[in-house]
Amino acid sequence: MKREIEEHRKTPVRYDCDVVVCGGGTAGFTAALAAARNGADTILVERFGHVGGTLVNGAGPLHSFFNLYKAYADAAKTQVVQGIPQEIVTRMMEASGSPGHLEQDKGGNYDSAITLIDWEIFKDVAFTMLEEAGVRILLHTVIADVIKDGGRLEGIIIEGKSGREAILARTVIDSTGDGDVAALAGAGFVKKHDTTSVGMPFGMTNVDMPRLVEFCRERGLVNQLIEGDKGSVTDHVIRLGFELKKVPEFTEFMEQTGMWGPLGFSLHEGEFTYINSAALPSVDTTDTEAYSKAEIALRHQIMKLAAMLKQYIPGFEHAYVSWTPASIGVRLTRIVECEYDLSLEEIVSGKRFGDEVYLYGFHDCAPRITIQGGGYYGVPYRALLPKHVEGLLVAGRCITSTWEAHMSTRNTVSCMAQGQAAGTAAAMCVKENILPRGLNAEKLRKTLRSQGVFLGDAS
Ligand SMILES: Cc1cc2nc3c(=O)[nH]c(=O)nc-3n(C[C@H](O)[C@H](O)[C@H](O)COP(=O)(O)OP(=O)(O)OC[C@H]3O[C@@H](n4cnc5c(N)ncnc54)[C@H](O)[C@@H]3O)c2cc1C
Repeated sequence: MKREIEEHRKTPVRYDCDVVVCGGGTAGFTAALAAARNGADTILVERFGHVGGTLVNGAGPLHSFFNLYKAYADAAKTQVVQGIPQEIVTRMMEASGSPGHLEQDKGGNYDSAITLIDWEIFKDVAFTMLEEAGVRILLHTVIADVIKDGGRLEGIIIEGKSGREAILARTVIDSTGDGDVAALAGAGFVKKHDTTSVGMPFGMTNVDMPRLVEFCRERGLVNQLIEGDKGSVTDHVIRLGFELKKVPEFTEFMEQTGMWGPLGFSLHEGEFTYINSAALPSVDTTDTEAYSKAEIALRHQIMKLAAMLKQYIPGFEHAYVSWTPASIGVRLTRIVECEYDLSLEEIVSGKRFGDEVYLYGFHDCAPRITIQGGGYYGVPYRALLPKHVEGLLVAGRCITSTWEAHMSTRNTVSCMAQGQAAGTAAAMCVKENILPRGLNAEKLRKTLRSQGVFLGDAS
């Protein structure tokens, strides 16, 4: 029999606000910015000591602001995602934290232009932008429960160093990635962790990148490459993907563990800033024990890989691990049941919707799966609107229930665009004193368009 303890306690209401954004990651950070800029008194709650989530703890190049124009002769190069996500890139470039959008020399049929950012600079720029917008930021704070009145969400319970406290809010945005708030609030969801792997990218310093590329070229291992100026006389390697499994010493280790690539990038001379290769299949990171075990296993995996790179691969002789993320990178856990669930067919055929709140043109399985003709598709407002619970919006990797559709919508630039849409919608609901389900999508689209979001040619 399951043992239980019944608790009776009073929780102080510490905060009262218009919009509470739960999780300050890729989608949450832009959601908070959008809500506050649209006039809502906004609180952002985040369990780590920085914002950005997987954007700075797992994702490499930001995929993608553009359509797949390099794979299709007839496709015009289009910046499909603009608005706040583009503003972040501009601010990062001004802070010397990003080389901006870079065209791929090799691999343009996977993503024609990728965007790199320096995570440490991002953390500072992101806080500055949130402060400018007047967002109240609560760090080192976990969302532990929700406050409901019937089917209506009225706030959340948080736990931080000040103890257990309540935040009351007119509209709640779940941007925890895992759909924690939606699940606690009783929204329907499906768990999909068994369709993919968790990972742990890391970085190494003291890498002779030109020597590494030469070795990979000689062996025919290179599958993605960008060369450009990063302020070095000799080292021009920016993006590098290669097939390590073809090197005999690595084949068995990588096959047994399910590792791939690596696919990575280098922002500074002598640094392989981001190496994405480590993987563990089917981990349910909404289970504390499974999450902990995976964290430990992946840390062992990357240290073993780093030692093997040093031993066998030219360029790594004097290298050492210089960076690991705050947490393993989680690709897929709960998918929240929303009013609309985009299918792969709709994505690849470039389907457009009357209530679309952003457009997107990248698929992570390219060139195997691409948006037809190098085009783009629309994501409807309804895809961010959970069924069964009122007062709640979701944004991030917890939408689209089939793995192959998710492999498009889950990417960073898509999540940021969702954040802008959800944050703007939440603020409009507060202003109009309505629930998200009652918001006029055309009005939302008009506001988004006026704030720089690309929704196709204006009609
Ligand atoms: C290994 C890996 C590599 C990837 N590579 C790329 C890539 O190269 N390019 C690309 O575009 N995409 C990539 N992705 C996908 C992309 O990074 C993610 O899908 C996306 O960043 C998810 O954004 P999100 O806002 O949904 O979640 P996150 O960015 O993870 O944000 C969720 C936030 O909520 C916080 N949180 C969660 N639960 C709670 C709680 N209960 N209380 C308080 N805070 C909480 C978290 O700390 C986090 O900050 C990769 C993903 C992984 C895992």
